[in-house]
Amino acid sequence: MRVLTYSKNIFIPVTDLCRNRCGYCSFRRDLGRARIIKRSQAQSLMERGAKAGCTEALFSMGESPWEVPGFSKMARDFGISDLMEYLVELCEAALEMGLLPHTNAGVLRQDHLELLAPYNASMGLMLETTAGVLAHAGSPGKAPEVRIDFMARAGKMKIPFTTGLLIGIGEGWPYRLHSLKALADLHRTYGHLQEVIIQPFDPKPGTPMAGRPGVGDAETAEVIRLARSILPVEVAIQSPPNLADPETMARVGANDLGGISSITPDGINPDRPWPDIAQLKDQLKGYSLRERLPIYPRYVLVGWYSRRVAGLIEALADEDGYKRTDGAVSWKRSG
Ligand code: SF4
Repeated sequence: MRVLTYSKNIFIPVTDLCRNRCGYCSFRRDLGRARIIKRSQAQSLMERGAKAGCTEALFSMGESPWEVPGFSKMARDFGISDLMEYLVELCEAALEMGLLPHTNAGVLRQDHLELLAPYNASMGLMLETTAGVLAHAGSPGKAPEVRIDFMARAGKMKIPFTTGLLIGIGEGWPYRLHSLKALADLHRTYGHLQEVIIQPFDPKPGTPMAGRPGVGDAETAEVIRLARSILPVEVAIQSPPNLADPETMARVGANDLGGISSITPDGINPDRPWPDIAQLKDQLKGYSLRERLPIYPRYVLVGWYSRRVAGLIEALADEDGYKRTDGAVSWKRSG
């Protein structure tokens, strides 16, 4: 029976302020409406996540919000002097509660990457596409060379990494192939890509691309088929089950369902509810669903993690590097 993996997570939106303006984004807010999550809100989500048996705290935020004029005052009014130090504090709180941080904070400067990496079991950044698309005209951080450089820096630091393609934003087939080859090259050089998400564009009301058609299952399946033929076999292909039919996608090569939450909505597609695990198990009868951690098993087995997250990873993982199922989790903070 083929194995399909997933993790149980909670989504924590650190801030929705962002220097970019992607044409399809409904997450970002302008200064004045943007928010930074309060400690108490984050804490409450983490407590609920821990109680529900989640293992992953997915910290997500707009890219380099400090580049938006007026951010310093927003941060001061909120009561922090440094957003990255605040994010580290939230990561520490997650670890205290038995949740492994996975941060997706956009392209980061090297000092910020070095600050955050030890507190994370894995990190992420969508490549989206190597094409220059109109959707990214107002988004300096979406320049493909900037994103590839960031992923290469993460690779040099041996950070287990999640990336992906956003398909249907004007890139076309030649660039889908080009993007996948770029990711395959990165992985062959650094060995750090644990999974590649194939995310279909899903139009959101109120965004510049609201009137554009979304990508259907047949096209998503073709991209997954292509991805499976290009990417090294150990790189998982993730297909979020709230965006595409999981059985169709598994049939053509997807082998991961991603982070699924019973607590928080998909922060990027809040209008697309998560199916629950029992429902997925029922639908995917021909597959064996296996829970993993936000760090993939092979990186657990070779110890690609810092001493700060080591104790929790080793307590949560079984001998194969997946989430242990015997319930015998006990750990001591190690850093
Ligand atoms: S970088 Fe992310 S948060 Fe910022 S506008 Fe683009 S999609 Fe939205």
